[in-house]
Amino acid sequence: SMADKSFKYVIVGGGVSAGYAAREFAKQGVQPGELAIISKEAVAPYERPALSKAYLFPEGAARLPGFHVCVGSGGERLLPEWYAEKGIQLILNTEIVKADLASKSLTSAAGETFKYKTLIIATGSTVLKLTDFKVEGADAKNILYLREIDDADKLVEAIKAKKNGKAVVVGGGYIGLELSAVLKINNFDVKMVYPEPWCMPRLFTADIAAFYESYYEKKGVSIIKGTVASGFTKHDSGEVKEVQLKDGRVLEADIVVVGVGARPLTNLFKGQVEEDKGGIKTDAFFKTSVPDVYAVGDVATFPMKLYGDIRRVEHVDHSRKSAEQAVKAIFASEQGKDIEAYDYLPYFYSRSFDLSWQFYGDNVGDAVIFGNHDPASEKPKFGSYWIKDGKVVGAFLEGGAAEENQAIAKVAKAQPAASSLDILAKEGLEFASKI
Ligand code: FAD
Repeated sequence: SMADKSFKYVIVGGGVSAGYAAREFAKQGVQPGELAIISKEAVAPYERPALSKAYLFPEGAARLPGFHVCVGSGGERLLPEWYAEKGIQLILNTEIVKADLASKSLTSAAGETFKYKTLIIATGSTVLKLTDFKVEGADAKNILYLREIDDADKLVEAIKAKKNGKAVVVGGGYIGLELSAVLKINNFDVKMVYPEPWCMPRLFTADIAAFYESYYEKKGVSIIKGTVASGFTKHDSGEVKEVQLKDGRVLEADIVVVGVGARPLTNLFKGQVEEDKGGIKTDAFFKTSVPDVYAVGDVATFPMKLYGDIRRVEHVDHSRKSAEQAVKAIFASEQGKDIEAYDYLPYFYSRSFDLSWQFYGDNVGDAVIFGNHDPASEKPKFGSYWIKDGKVVGAFLEGGAAEENQAIAKVAKAQPAASSLDILAKEGLEFASKI
């Protein structure tokens, strides 16, 4: 029916934040019928990071319902039945195309209207496409992107259809690195292309990147740096045939996977809510400039108490924690109570091949590498500290055990003084273990 549907709480977006918010709503005692999650995806919220990792394995691949939230953080899996039991409406396959924050209503592509008392914006990000930059031939078939499960399914299909074929991965960020690894594991001939002098330049130092680049080369992934894909040629079928590089080289490709960044999905709310740093501006409770409207996850630009500035964070740990904070804040404000301000310690991770790294804190100032970062060694284990104004502010660790990762997290939070880079290089993990 086209009749208005009305809810006390609506979450627009059905990704990681929405799932963790739902669990917190249940903990806080939301009543049946009060909460709806509206998502353009066809499935209940799931742990998005699985899509570039185990979802693409040739054997034993992860599939839903295996990685619905909240398994990624060691919690209970919220299956569609769970939402039904709690009386939380999952309104799937429903894209919101218009939001009117003044009249508190949302309109779907099919013309349905949804009303709310309190709104949580959890629309996440969308990938940047080469067609957005008018790259010639970028509309060819088998030039693929990865954000949602539909994209991952297309990638799985292409991997099957082009068995043992040639893949070109465009982009040297974490998506590029994870996808290159998984395509190699699927026995593709893999070439990675990126313009920067080394991979993951926003986080990795030259030293850290050198380890991953030679590890990848050893696994048979070839890396082409300092140039970009400037055009594509197609077969008569419309499928991609070649990748033309700006430096004049031409690479054959059966599949091209592009990971060149993402953009927060804030369009629906443009001009209606304060924005900053490309996101929707919030306070430490994820409240926006509009009463009864919250924003969480990738779209939120929030105060980072630890650093005294405001930031937007596009990582899964923050999407989970910001969602929980917003829901706690909503219930607290209804009960006239206060909760603590969000005090986030940045945490990112990635996994590929047999590798696994974690990073905590801020990668600013001078960096020093420690440990065994020889990519040829049996069990490499190394890390890096970042030091600013005489304090350790960031820590990275490859191959760490759980308690070692906890130790570097503690360092990044405590920001202990460090007398010299040399001492940190020498003490390595021991320095962290003492904190
Ligand atoms: P999302 O999880 O993206 O959810 C947004 C939801 O909103 C989606 O369901 C979308 O369909 C829906 N939506 C958007 N617009 C509308 C609309 N108009 N109407 C209805 N629904 C809408 N982070 C890490 O820290 N480590 C990792 O290893 C890692 N791996 C990743 C791998 C991949 C392939 C991707 C894409 C991301 C990865 N991330 C990783 C980042 C992490 O997944 C995101 O930061 C996190 O998912 C953000 O959560 P969110 O809820 O803000 O957005």
